[in-house]
Amino acid sequence: MKSKRMPGTLFVIAMFACCAVSATAQKANPLRSATRNVSLAEPAETGGIREVIPSKFQKRYEEWKAEFLSTDIGKAQWDMYAHHPHLVLTITINSNSKGAGSGKYKWNDSGELVAATISLGSEIERGYPSSVYYPVMNALEPFESQRLIDGSMLAATKLAHEFGHVMKISSVPRSLYDLQIQLVPVYNKIFLSNGYNVNDPRLVDIAQKIGGNPVQIWEDREYWGEANAMLFLRDRVAKEKFHCRLFGKIKQAVEEYAKDYEERFAEIAKSQGAIYSCSWK
Ligand SMILES: [Zn+2]
Repeated sequence: MKSKRMPGTLFVIAMFACCAVSATAQKANPLRSATRNVSLAEPAETGGIREVIPSKFQKRYEEWKAEFLSTDIGKAQWDMYAHHPHLVLTITINSNSKGAGSGKYKWNDSGELVAATISLGSEIERGYPSSVYYPVMNALEPFESQRLIDGSMLAATKLAHEFGHVMKISSVPRSLYDLQIQLVPVYNKIFLSNGYNVNDPRLVDIAQKIGGNPVQIWEDREYWGEANAMLFLRDRVAKEKFHCRLFGKIKQAVEEYAKDYEERFAEIAKSQGAIYSCSWK
C-alpha cells in the first residue's frame, strides 16, 4: 500500500515521528532550556554554536562536521549560526541512535528564536529512514552499498536535515508554534474519539487555526529538513558521476510520496550549475 494518507494511520504516523521537532514530542518537554541558560526575560546577548560532545564521540563528530563544512552551503549555514547575533544553537550527541532530532526552541520577548538544540545519534553513520518522508536521505542507500558514499556523508546529510529544521522554525511565528503545541493534542484526542473523521467540524476548525492537521504540519517540517539535506548533497556530489542518478532517485520518491511538496525540491534541482545539472521535469 503506497498511500500514506489513510485517515486511520494519521495519528500513528505522528506518534512515531523520528525527529524531535514533532509537535507530539515537543509537548512532552516544550520549554526546557537548551544547555545554555537563556530565559525569556533575558535573551542571550550573543548567539553562536555550542558543541556539547562527549569525548568518546569527539573523533567521529569532527569527521561528520568536516564533511558538512566541505560544501559551500554547509560552511555558509554553519558560519551563519556561529556568528548569529542572538540564537544559541547547541549540538549534542546521544548514545545508540541512528536518528537525529532538533528542538528545545526558545524565543525572546521580541519573538526572535534565541535557543535551539540539534541532537545527533552516535550511530548516524548508519541507518536510512523511509523514502515516504525522507526521500533525500533514503536515496543515498544504494550508493553506499556500491561504495560510492561513506558513513560520514550520510551523517553530514542527517546534520543538514536538522539544520533545515532550525532554519525553518526561525521563520515560524512563535504564536503559531505555541498554538500548534497547544492544539495538536486536542486534535489528536478528538480524532481518536470520532472514528478518525478528519471532516469533523471541530477538527477542520483546529486545522485552519494551526496551518493544517498534525500530520500535514509534521510532514511539512520533515520535507523542509529534507530540502536542506538535498541542498547539502547538491554541493557535495556536484562533481560525482552518480550525481544525476542520486537526484533521479530523490525525484522518484518525491513524485511518489511528496507530490504536494515537489516544488521545494525541484527548485534545488534547478539551482545546480549548468554543467552538472540533471533534468527534474
Ligand atoms: Zn526531521
